[in-house]
Amino acid sequence: MYLASSNGLNHTFLLNTYILTFHDFSFNPRLVDGLDAMGFSKPTPIQIQSIPVILNKQDLIACAQTGTGKTAAYVLPILNNIVNSEKRHLNTVIIAPTRELAQQIDQQIEGFSYFLGVSSIAIYGGGDGATWDQQKRAMEGGVDIIIATPGRLIAQIAMGTINFDHVEHLVLDEADRMLDMGFYEDIIRIIKELPVKRQTLLFSATMPPKIRSLANRILQSPMEINIAISKPAEGILQQAYVVYNEQKEKLIDSLLKEKSYTSVLIFASTKENVKKLDRNLNRLGLKAKAIHSDLDQTEREHVLREFKNKQLSILIGTDVLSRGIDVEGIDLVINFDVPPDPEDYIHRIGRTARAASTGTAITFVNDMDQRKFFRIESLIGKEVPKIQVPTELGPAPAYSPETKNHQMKGQGHKNSGKQKSWKGKRRPHQKPKP
Ligand code: AMP
Repeated sequence: MYLASSNGLNHTFLLNTYILTFHDFSFNPRLVDGLDAMGFSKPTPIQIQSIPVILNKQDLIACAQTGTGKTAAYVLPILNNIVNSEKRHLNTVIIAPTRELAQQIDQQIEGFSYFLGVSSIAIYGGGDGATWDQQKRAMEGGVDIIIATPGRLIAQIAMGTINFDHVEHLVLDEADRMLDMGFYEDIIRIIKELPVKRQTLLFSATMPPKIRSLANRILQSPMEINIAISKPAEGILQQAYVVYNEQKEKLIDSLLKEKSYTSVLIFASTKENVKKLDRNLNRLGLKAKAIHSDLDQTEREHVLREFKNKQLSILIGTDVLSRGIDVEGIDLVINFDVPPDPEDYIHRIGRTARAASTGTAITFVNDMDQRKFFRIESLIGKEVPKIQVPTELGPAPAYSPETKNHQMKGQGHKNSGKQKSWKGKRRPHQKPKP
């Protein structure tokens, strides 16, 4: 699925074999505390591949879309570098095409640096004079990371307020979009202000020739990473229900009674959930069977054969089934919960609409899963329509994944869901600025 190469070397196998959690990166313990608190446990493929390269101080060109976890892929090793450095100066400049992206990156940095006392500021146009003054004052006061849109950064450079002498990292995020928006000359102009000895990281969703030529001009012997994400087949009608857990089983019952399906595959994340769902659906009068690792091989094959022969119309399983099963004519896939890995979502729903036929894929999204589902929507580049839960099942939650951003486990994160401007106040454990 992905490839990391430099001088023809392929590191993917090694990296995937050994790095399984964020604890495997030798990050500063306070950074790991922040990740734990945010509920980040497993790095995504782009993070598995980029983080060691960035920690190793190499330049990087990475082809990855929004939704893959690309922001954390560069932010985490940079934060680690800042926390471990003795003197604090402006350390990192991140350039992004739009104000929205600059704000989002800034919010992620704020979430990760909750226990670190690293300061960042988003600099973008479109605000009033007060915003401009705020940005200017913040930079004069010292800041570790600037996230800026090109035009506004150049305007600040013209004011002479920024000292770039100690910048160690330059990140270009969504570089292809910046070039499409005509920012090439602005980027080159900004780079002229930066120290020649620096680490440059270029992230782009696509790799057209103009990105290659920009990379040749500004990167030095970069590592290259390509995260190719598969797309769901066109024939799949995707839908989602935003529900409470207690409503899920009744919703399956109502969906299957409302319309007749020949072959229904239901995915749940754990073996325990698969077994429980099997019991409860049968109690509701639905003839379902489950496949899980407690069944022996013969039992599993038997159930699968019944499903393939259409003697059994409802099969329940975990993600293992999403990769292994190749059954024609599955007309409905139900995701009883949102899979943690967006790739699994694509595999799960790909069990229907095989061989250019059509099918429906319905996902149940509870409160805890809203962020995960939003990530999947970003990755597949489309919003999945949310269908109203039948009124007889009672009121359902609203879909508001943004407000669930960076919710700290067990405590309300002070910035959750809020748009943030410059936060000039020093945090309790933040070092004084030089
Ligand atoms: P991005 O591709 O950077 O726009 O990230 C998309 C979303 O994925 C953001 O909301 C991140 O908070 C979330 N995210 C990134 N990395 C992880 C991870 N390792 N585990 C869980 N969520 C993540």
